[in-house]
Amino acid sequence: VASTAADWLEPLNAAQREAVTHGAGGAGVPGPLLVIAGAGTGKTNTLAHRVAHLILHGADPARILLLTFSRRAADEMGRRVRRILGHAAAEHPWLAQANLEWSGTFHAIGARLLRDYAARIGLDPAFTIHDREDSADLMNLARHEAGLSTRERRFPLKGTCLAIYSATVNTGAPLAGVLQSTFPWCAEWETELKALFRAYVAAKQAQQVLDYDDLLLYWAHMMDEPALAREVGDQFRHVLVDEYQDTNPLQARILLAMKPDGRGLAVVGDDAQAIYAFRGATVRNILDFPAHFDPPARRVTLECNYRSTQPILAAANAVIAQAAERYDKELWSARESAVRPQLVSVRDEADQAAFVVERVLARREEGIELRQQAVLFRAASHSARLEMELTRRNIPFVKFGGLKFLEAAHVKDVLALLRWTENLRDRVAGFRVLQLLPGIGPKSAARVLDNLAAAPAGCELLAEQPVPEAARAGWAEFAALVEELRRADAAWPAGFERACRWYEAHMPGLYDDATVRQGDIQQLARIAATYPGRQRFLTELTLDPPGATSGEAGMPLLDEDYLILSTMHSAKGQEWRSVTVLNAVDGCIPSDISTRSTLEIDEERRLLYVAMTRARDHLELVAPQRFYVSGQQGLGDRHVYAGRTRFISNRMLGHFEQMSWPEPPAELRGTPDSRQAALDLAAKMRGMWD
Ligand code: ATP
Ligand code: MG
Repeated sequence: VASTAADWLEPLNAAQREAVTHGAGGAGVPGPLLVIAGAGTGKTNTLAHRVAHLILHGADPARILLLTFSRRAADEMGRRVRRILGHAAAEHPWLAQANLEWSGTFHAIGARLLRDYAARIGLDPAFTIHDREDSADLMNLARHEAGLSTRERRFPLKGTCLAIYSATVNTGAPLAGVLQSTFPWCAEWETELKALFRAYVAAKQAQQVLDYDDLLLYWAHMMDEPALAREVGDQFRHVLVDEYQDTNPLQARILLAMKPDGRGLAVVGDDAQAIYAFRGATVRNILDFPAHFDPPARRVTLECNYRSTQPILAAANAVIAQAAERYDKELWSARESAVRPQLVSVRDEADQAAFVVERVLARREEGIELRQQAVLFRAASHSARLEMELTRRNIPFVKFGGLKFLEAAHVKDVLALLRWTENLRDRVAGFRVLQLLPGIGPKSAARVLDNLAAAPAGCELLAEQPVPEAARAGWAEFAALVEELRRADAAWPAGFERACRWYEAHMPGLYDDATVRQGDIQQLARIAATYPGRQRFLTELTLDPPGATSGEAGMPLLDEDYLILSTMHSAKGQEWRSVTVLNAVDGCIPSDISTRSTLEIDEERRLLYVAMTRARDHLELVAPQRFYVSGQQGLGDRHVYAGRTRFISNRMLGHFEQMSWPEPPAELRGTPDSRQAALDLAAKMRGMWD
């Protein structure tokens, strides 16, 4: 179908149009394309237009693979593509229904492909997926079994072991190298860690579970088989990737195996926004992309920022310009404004919370909806004080990143039940579920799981398991439930409701605040009902849980207006009319756990750059003069005095309007310069003791 509304590309600038139509007119599948450009220059928008362009020129949507950073981003992209198609081909309304079946994160797509190809690579297609917490639990189990915890108390904790394992898998580097560069304090345990990882891998295999990293690892291994690589590669005529700067070596390997000559491959990203090195991502992927191919990939750069006003962009540019590594980008804004971003000094976090609430409400009065306003922070815990204040003032909010409501114990219980019925060998899930039953503790749970693991099919035997006297009464009902759920996939989401009813009947005895928790479970049921089946529900929920906080408010209804709270990491790719950055102080950004090397400091700087470039019209950075830290390193809870983030040097202050809140009385006010001088002096005196 050729577009009749030829002007649909009109709103794009010349460079964007070049990227959208790259390869058009040529015979066959277009060669590799790289769009590397700064924040807000329309990379994601360009990618959406390119997908629409391909579909308009006859590409089958089912053969387009679109890889994004989150499921939310994938959904948003799907909506954009349909909107563009609706406009570009109004006379073909069916086109605007185009469904991008294969869009999602690398991990989610990996999970689907592995199920489809399971039989071919010797994997049980009924595998279940462990989230990080489950993986840490399994790692712990393996650790105990290897006798590593009891023998040596200084052995790294389960979370650290998992982080080391994950970094090794994702970078493809040898363990010794990873230890030396990233976990030097664990280097002495190399031999033990190797043994532990062997045990961990064996446990996963025996139980038919995959962890996050396996979804990429197995996918990459599958692509080592030339015939399979060709088959999977041919399944997708076009592969498009957003936020390519945050991919890791394993992901690059997968892409190159699918598209060895780069035909049909298009990636976009910004090296100045690389913020996932701590998880093994490498900016080399995007920088080295063109040279992988012969002839090299077509490279398009975009220089006009359409998102932020000029003063906001100028401040963000000043922050990134100080990086040890230089980014050769000229970014200019299409949006003039006289309003500079604000740098707001407050006394402490209580004042910070009060200030943010006052500002948010004032802007709502001015007509900026809450959902057009975001509050961003470095660590999920930084918003605690603000969350309390919002709750007290009855202001609805949604929180992205950090602790999710899916991590609440009761929600995990229900999910574990579903997961276990899916795969009875999944020990972490089984352990959790069995112990929900009154009368069953770790010992009897382990015995049941051992018996099931030894049996060929498993489920029929469940009812006959010897369980302690106290558990006898509910056991038959439980076994019947599991059997029913194992058969119930056709009747989704009825099976889910059945599981919830059983759980709710048992819950009052398990937890105190049963009504709050019931609200969460009902919320989960609403989400479940939007999925076609159990497997898809479990997979996507495990990989990319919807952000929301647990608590009385639950997740606001979709048509309600709510404020956005988000970690800086989870804010990637998005934009809001107003952005407030909390805790713009040293120790928070850069985080005091990431100040060991220039590389880490630079990643923190890019993170602040990402946060600032999310703002369209308003940007404010709030810096409490002191804040509270809970006891660490034997130091007990205490107040610490904080200095403004080092990423905003004195020379850059001209980019900001400085103010204090609440306004001090006139006679004490001083000039911004004198206040800064006082802060600088205080920092200097403290610095003597560093
Ligand atoms: P990031 O680096 O943050 O991911 P991005 O480069 O992906 O940003 P987009 O999110 O695609 O940028 O676009 C930023 C904003 O600019 C969006 O609101 C988009 O609609 C708008 N925009 C993009 N291109 C144009 C254009 N040619 N004319 C007007 N607005 C545009
Ligand atoms: Mg983008």
